[in-house]
Amino acid sequence: MKIERLWNFVIISDYLAKIAKLGNAHCLKKNIYFQKKSVFFDKLIRMEVTLTTPPAFEKTFYNFHDKYEMLGHSFDPKFTKEQMKPKWQRVCRFCGRSKPDTTFKSDAHLIPEQLGNTMLFSDFECHECNLRFGKYESQLAEFLGISRTLAFTRNKGKVPTFRSADDSLRAKHDVLNEQDYVVVSRSDAADGSIISDIEKGSITATYTKKPYIPASVYRAFLKMALSVIDGNEVNAAYKIALDFLNNTGHIKFICGAIAYGFEAPFQLAEHPYFYLFKKKKPDEPIHTHFLILYFQKFIIGFPVPFHKQDLSFYGNPFQVLDFPPMLPQHQLKETTEFKRIFIDLNSEERVTGEKEQINITFDPAQAGVSAAYSPLSGKVKERPFDAFEITEIIITGHAGNVALEELHQAVKKNSIQKPSS
Ligand SMILES: [Zn+2]
Repeated sequence: MKIERLWNFVIISDYLAKIAKLGNAHCLKKNIYFQKKSVFFDKLIRMEVTLTTPPAFEKTFYNFHDKYEMLGHSFDPKFTKEQMKPKWQRVCRFCGRSKPDTTFKSDAHLIPEQLGNTMLFSDFECHECNLRFGKYESQLAEFLGISRTLAFTRNKGKVPTFRSADDSLRAKHDVLNEQDYVVVSRSDAADGSIISDIEKGSITATYTKKPYIPASVYRAFLKMALSVIDGNEVNAAYKIALDFLNNTGHIKFICGAIAYGFEAPFQLAEHPYFYLFKKKKPDEPIHTHFLILYFQKFIIGFPVPFHKQDLSFYGNPFQVLDFPPMLPQHQLKETTEFKRIFIDLNSEERVTGEKEQINITFDPAQAGVSAAYSPLSGKVKERPFDAFEITEIIITGHAGNVALEELHQAVKKNSIQKPSS
């Protein structure tokens, strides 16, 4: 039997069908949060994880935990470098090879470095597979666009400089007086790429993303999932998924390649982390494993495709579940707003010219007293601040006022524009 396309799921819940169009989901102003404790026993540590969700997600929370139980998480010490097997004992989970047929000379990351991971490693990914997956991970980086720079996400110790596809918008990180800055700069002040609403206190910058292949981004998520699931289960149950990941099987394309979740109004963690869930009843027509990944401002849910137990559901009513944003209680405030995200990764075709917007908010009262200051020339003009003239936006990694001189230096060094007299 030759299958070239396989439906990952057929019926998605009404809710998920709509969420792509949904705007912000507001949390109710109540003081009650819903919690569930999961206790883990491990050879090394006993760990208790409490998941909390805002009141608006109560129903979703109980529905999700009714069907899924937590199986693992990134705080497990087995993912640290100290717990890695020696190289001569390693077997690559993805191609099945070991030394001397392959090498393990690179440090394989459980979650890509591009997402800021410097803590979680794997001892079951050979050098060759690591190089191949690196291509998917670069596609993921292009897909994420400017967000990695704005979040000060470090890759090999450096925050990447972002350039839009046509190089008209750039975001560059710098450190001045031991403080992190990002200077967002545009080449043409009249190109309409930055618009602002002074009365509302918002600035919106629009830029064109670099090209990316959605199916490669999907494979980057799939590789993460197959890395965090127990190796014996991957070998026993995810043969099709491994073939799909390695491009060695019949299945070249999946219908229903999606990831979905939330964007929080704040950075969730400096380093990415995850929770892995497994369905409680094998005959429930939902994906066996569900990975929830946290990085930058994002909480991304990934239903893991192709578990052998799920194959009988493919082509029949098969659902993906909605899940709630779950955070430690201290991170949730009554007014936390989570923006819904729906990522459609169904295409092998390169996506070019995709527009993306970033929104920056400020205190409208401040704009009224602002002057037209040119950080490049260091001069204040004799007229009020005009939002349409914005050429640079400086984002600082710390709260509080910043000296004008400091901003002057930051822009002079990092602007895409040439200083004028
Ligand atoms: Zn390999």
